Amino acid sequence: MTHTLVLHGGAGTIPLDRMGPGEMDAHHAGLRAALLAGHRVLAAGGAALEAVTAAVMALEDDPLFNAGRGAVFTRAGVQEMDAAVMDGATLRVGAVAGLRGPRNPVLAARAVMEHSPHILMAGDGALAFLRGHGVVFEDDAYFHTTRRWDALQRVLAGPGQVRDDADRHGTVGAVARDAAGHLAAATSTGGMTGKLPGRIGDTPLPGAGTWADGAVAFSATGHGESFIRTAAGHELSARMRLAGEDLDAASDAVMAGLAAVGGDGGFIAVDAAGRLAMPFNSGGMYRGWVGVDGVAHTGVHRDALLRHPVVLAAPAGTR
Ligand code: ASP
Repeated sequence: MTHTLVLHGGAGTIPLDRMGPGEMDAHHAGLRAALLAGHRVLAAGGAALEAVTAAVMALEDDPLFNAGRGAVFTRAGVQEMDAAVMDGATLRVGAVAGLRGPRNPVLAARAVMEHSPHILMAGDGALAFLRGHGVVFEDDAYFHTTRRWDALQRVLAGPGQVRDDADRHGTVGAVARDAAGHLAAATSTGGMTGKLPGRIGDTPLPGAGTWADGAVAFSATGHGESFIRTAAGHELSARMRLAGEDLDAASDAVMAGLAAVGGDGGFIAVDAAGRLAMPFNSGGMYRGWVGVDGVAHTGVHRDALLRHPVVLAAPAGTR
C-alpha cells in the first residue's frame, strides 16, 4: 500500500530576489528534515496521525518557520500560538489557541484530543491542563528570534515598512495518508505578525485551517480570517464527498472561494487514494512531499517543485 506525506512551512515566504542562497538552502533543509521525520513513521507502518505530528514538531523546532520556536509576535510583543491536529479515521480532533509556553503546540493539541473531553482549549485553564499532562514548556527566550522581533517593528511602523509576506505571517502544517489508507492533518502557527493580543486564526478551528476525514486531509496557511469565512477545509471535503469533485477540482474551487473574499495563501491536501494538492495564490509557499520511494520534493516559490529531489530513506520493504 502506498503512503504519502505533504507539508507546508507557510505562505509567508521571502521573495526570490531577496532570498540568498544560504537562506534558500536552509529552508529546503528544514522542509526535508520535517519530511524525513514524518516519512520514518509512515515507512515503519505508523499511523498518519503520528506522521503529521512528527513532521509538524520538526517545523516547530526550526526557528525559520512561524510556529513554536520562531513564532511571530503580537502587537504587544508577545507570542501567542494556535495549533490543531485531526485524525480522519475517527474524526477525533484537538486544538489549542493563543498559548505561550508549550514547546510544541501540536503536542498540546494532541493532549487536548487524547486527555480531555473537549476539542479546543485556551487561556490559563489550558496551560494548567497541559502542565498536568506532562506537556513540556519553555520560557519566552526559547521562542524569541531577532528576525521575528524585527518584523514586528516594521509592521508596527506601518505598511510602507513591511518588506514582504515573510514579515506578515507564516504557519506550518502536514497531511498524510498512511499505509492503512487513513488520513490525518496537523497545523501550528504563531499567526499574523502584529495581530491584536487575543486574536485567534484559522489554524485551530476544525474545518477552517485544519481538517481530516475519510475523504481528505487539509492544512492551510495565509490570511486566517479568509479561511475561516470560507470554512475552507470543510468546503474541500464537502465538495469531494457531496458533489463528487476530485481533489484538483475541489482545490480550485476552494482557492476561488478564498480569492472571492480577498484572501491570500494556500493549503496542502491529500485524499484517500494518496493524491495530493498544494495550491497557493501568494508569492510562494514553503512546501514538500514524500511518497513510498522516500524521495523528498521541496519547493518555495513558483519554481518547479522537483527542484531539490533528495532521497530521504530506502523505500519501505527494502531495508
Ligand atoms: N493562517 C495563519 C493565521 O491566520 C497565518 C499564516 O498561515 O500565515 O493565523
